[in-house]
Amino acid sequence: MELIMATQNKNKVKEINALLPASIQVKTLEEIGCLEEIPETQETLEGNAFQKAQFVADKYGVNCFADDTGLEIDALKGEPGVYSARYAGPKKNADDNMNLVLNKLEGVADRKARFRTVIALIIDGVETVFEGIAEGEITKEKSGQEGFGYDPIFRPTGYAETFSELTMKEKNEISHRGRAVKKLVEHLSKLQEKS
Ligand code: IMP
Repeated sequence: MELIMATQNKNKVKEINALLPASIQVKTLEEIGCLEEIPETQETLEGNAFQKAQFVADKYGVNCFADDTGLEIDALKGEPGVYSARYAGPKKNADDNMNLVLNKLEGVADRKARFRTVIALIIDGVETVFEGIAEGEITKEKSGQEGFGYDPIFRPTGYAETFSELTMKEKNEISHRGRAVKKLVEHLSKLQEKS
């Protein structure tokens, strides 16, 4: 089985291929000659994931999937959510985004938050959705050097460290994306067994 991931991010594809049986191969958009920007204009993670997967399935006639992730902070009514990458502006700067969150939460006691990843899969026109959640809280200051995005200010429930202070392996085991990808891999492996 060959599947396209609607992303230009080779690392995401590499990570997923490492978890899949050899009979299932995931390829990037570049590998099917798609270099254009995929539209991502919806107001929910589910909406964006399906928009991206549908665009690629329709235009290139392939089986594919797409993901979308957001940080949802309770005290900010679910913000930054779908706007996580560009919360502090179009530069998509991680430090600016974290500073904005820390400023908005200054003096706020309820710091509960979660990362949520949605994966939309389209195989022979059939749509399936997978979700992965990592619960936690926003710290009062940044700490740690690893990871990316909001990792230095997110402490997963049950841990004393932020995502940024965990190793990549430790983070992947409990992360939103790790959990969503695990569900996708289980689903694909079952489909493969049946065929
Ligand atoms: P994407 O949908 O994977 O591109 O993620 C959207 C945005 O959410 C990123 O630009 C980051 O700001 C944030 N984000 C996603 N995953 C993570 C993570 O694992 N740690 C920290 N921030 C993340």
